[in-house]
Amino acid sequence: MASHGQRRESFLYRSDSDYELSPKSLSRNSSIVGELHGEDLIVTPFAQVLASLRTVRNNFTTLTNLRPPCMVSGDSAMDMDPLGPDYVSMCLLADESYQKLAMETMEELDWCLDQLETIQTYRSVSDMASNKFKRMLNRELSHLSEMSRSGNQVSEYISNTFLGEERKRSGVRKVSHTPSITGSTSNRFGVKTDQEELLSKDLEDINKWGLNIFGVAEHSHNRPLTCVMYTIFQERDLMRTFKIPTDTFVTFMLTLESHYHSDVAYHNSLHAADVAQSTHILLSTPALDAVFTDLEILAAIFAAAIHDVDHPGVSNQFLINTNSELALMYNDESVLENHHLAVGFKLLQEDNCDIFQNLTKKQKQTLRRMVIDMVLATDMSKHMSLLADLKTMVETKKVTSSGVLLLDNYTDRMQVLRNMVHCADLSNPTKPLDLYRQWTDRIMDEFFHQGDRERERGMEISPMCDKHTASVERTQVSFIDYIVHPLWETWADLVHPDAQDILDTLEDNRNWYQSMIPQSPSPPFYASDGEGGPHGEVEGGPVASKFQFELTLDDQGGDRESRMMDTTEACEGVTLSEQLSHQDGVEMTACDVSPAET
Ligand SMILES: [Zn+2]
Repeated sequence: MASHGQRRESFLYRSDSDYELSPKSLSRNSSIVGELHGEDLIVTPFAQVLASLRTVRNNFTTLTNLRPPCMVSGDSAMDMDPLGPDYVSMCLLADESYQKLAMETMEELDWCLDQLETIQTYRSVSDMASNKFKRMLNRELSHLSEMSRSGNQVSEYISNTFLGEERKRSGVRKVSHTPSITGSTSNRFGVKTDQEELLSKDLEDINKWGLNIFGVAEHSHNRPLTCVMYTIFQERDLMRTFKIPTDTFVTFMLTLESHYHSDVAYHNSLHAADVAQSTHILLSTPALDAVFTDLEILAAIFAAAIHDVDHPGVSNQFLINTNSELALMYNDESVLENHHLAVGFKLLQEDNCDIFQNLTKKQKQTLRRMVIDMVLATDMSKHMSLLADLKTMVETKKVTSSGVLLLDNYTDRMQVLRNMVHCADLSNPTKPLDLYRQWTDRIMDEFFHQGDRERERGMEISPMCDKHTASVERTQVSFIDYIVHPLWETWADLVHPDAQDILDTLEDNRNWYQSMIPQSPSPPFYASDGEGGPHGEVEGGPVASKFQFELTLDDQGGDRESRMMDTTEACEGVTLSEQLSHQDGVEMTACDVSPAET
């Protein structure tokens, strides 16, 4: 196993030099922030502005020889002690250094003004960060895609799935309507099993990251969701807290579980059980101790349990492309996630299924609102916005207070919860390798099945869905590099140091898949260059000459992007070819949130 002393950072910490670097970035990045948390950099625009203004403020006191009465917003790790060494040294500033500091301060202030001017009134802080991250991910993907054909396919997959940048392909036929909702409430005994001992042994790990969920399924006649939920509710005493009759609970869970498709390779009740159990663990992380109310906990675990119910084993894009009933019903927007929610709530109305019958009206309303919020956030095309918001939250706390995360309001708590369920949904690569590999087999199975259906219909085969060309190992490495690691790194920052083991496992697993990439005649994915990470070779320099990558471009590209960061004029040192590619809409990262939606 690798040593994790010097953990590799995700691409979010790479230079976004075309956009953010200016003279002050040195002070902002290396001195101010560096003192805070080792080598941590601040990467979200809003937190950068805050940090920058802090620097200006400190410089101001130095330049004016002013003793600050008190800080504006409480203690901060970066406050200058008025009597500390910095203060003393500033009194001794030679004329030359005085001028220099004054200039730097001016530049810093100019930079802040620039940043603030770019923010148009309808642009939220959240958009700033997610647009930046999307732009950076896009650059990574452009680079990746030109490395090899499979790299191109992996890029397209990531872009389609996690950037929400899909075009509608021409579909042909309709898919059949989803099965109607009929609960099988005949089985009222909870989980019947002749392997009770093995099952209870499996479930002893209910509070562990890495519970053998496959064992639970095997020893429960394939009712892992019911078992796991029952155990979690017992463990957390939720049945008593919310007066849920046991038989109602079991009936509902069995009904819910039966509405997951056992013939779908990945998105079946095993995955739901896994996400529910992972959410259960994340809720108990010490850093979030006593943060959430019982109702929020109930909502998060319930959301995890229903979040993929009645999943047909094909993607949103497939449903849209084939003009399915579901896509029609939900107007192509988060089609599956809307459906999972509708089914999940509808099942509560089946006979003896209303596990929320003893909640107050107000509790029911709040719970429903929270569950809808969390399940809609499992739409992978929302990934970058979720990540950007979480990172902005974490970094803003870092630069504005002593690093304490209060989470004393609903909005902040919901933001953490929806990211938590999203993390649980993307937790396969953070689990012990033998579990992770089984999940990978399953998801590839499901993708290939969809690819077969597309082939049969004469449709264009979705990226990663063609069993003849997909590269499983490379996909996993990229999936970790561009999606899973940045997310978990941010989560780990939020709950520091609770998730360090998870990051270690993730890194080991990534390296394992990297080592399993078959040697092929195509160019290497990228050179494995140890500590520097896979991206060292392009650090800092303009990579414009390498841009050839064309993702699934569509009509929305150009005009949407020009609304935000007007990229081309902000870039210094970007060659014509990159600028052209911007105009072509290759830089399709910009905004998926139009002003009207914000
Ligand atoms: Zn899921």
